[in-house]
Amino acid sequence: MSEEAKRILIIEDETDLVLGLTDAFEFEGYQVDYAQTGELGVQKAEEISPNLIVLDLMLAGMNGYNVCKAIRHRDTVTPILILSARSQENDIIRGLEAGADDYMTKPFSIGELLARVRAIFRRISPSPDRSSSRIITVGDAVINIDSYTATVGNKQVDLGFYATAILHVLHDKRGEPVSRDDILDAVWGIDANPTNRTIDNFILKLRRVLEKNPAKPKHILTVYGQGYKLTQ
Ligand code: CA
Repeated sequence: MSEEAKRILIIEDETDLVLGLTDAFEFEGYQVDYAQTGELGVQKAEEISPNLIVLDLMLAGMNGYNVCKAIRHRDTVTPILILSARSQENDIIRGLEAGADDYMTKPFSIGELLARVRAIFRRISPSPDRSSSRIITVGDAVINIDSYTATVGNKQVDLGFYATAILHVLHDKRGEPVSRDDILDAVWGIDANPTNRTIDNFILKLRRVLEKNPAKPKHILTVYGQGYKLTQ
């Protein structure tokens, strides 16, 4: 990561929340830009190439899912963290499938959000070297660990940072079950505090991309009482 301040783009229509987030991010030394509509958000993301995007799902006009897809259409790397007032699983999964890396449901604590953002910045590599990208395979899918993408047939799908990181952890222990706690420690570290449910959501996302029948997975298995296992 370069020495200059990291840029965060907030795409959110609630003015109070934008002000609160801007204060908190600026206090941490980040440079902040914001857009109050999805359309402007997509445009700004292209103009300023932020290091991270914080995106609200519920926007008037172009909604957050479509914003996420539009950004992912030309940029598969910049982390996108979704803010959602909805806690329903389906909305979260839909956001992750649209290419988001992480999510927080409102109301959330600013401290928790800052911890997640710090964790994302700690883990992203400054410029993935495409020529020596790390590749793993799961069934017929080829996953690029450094660009967070999976190629299945002739289709390239964005997995996002966290789903890729979870898969990487399972791959390192291929054939053995890995507990949710071990996944949390390996991927999020100690400062951020996501729940086991968060992992389950990313596993669902991975199965939807990598399994022929996500309801009957053949590669990413649940090991009852133990966690998850990537088959040999
Ligand atoms: Ca909103």
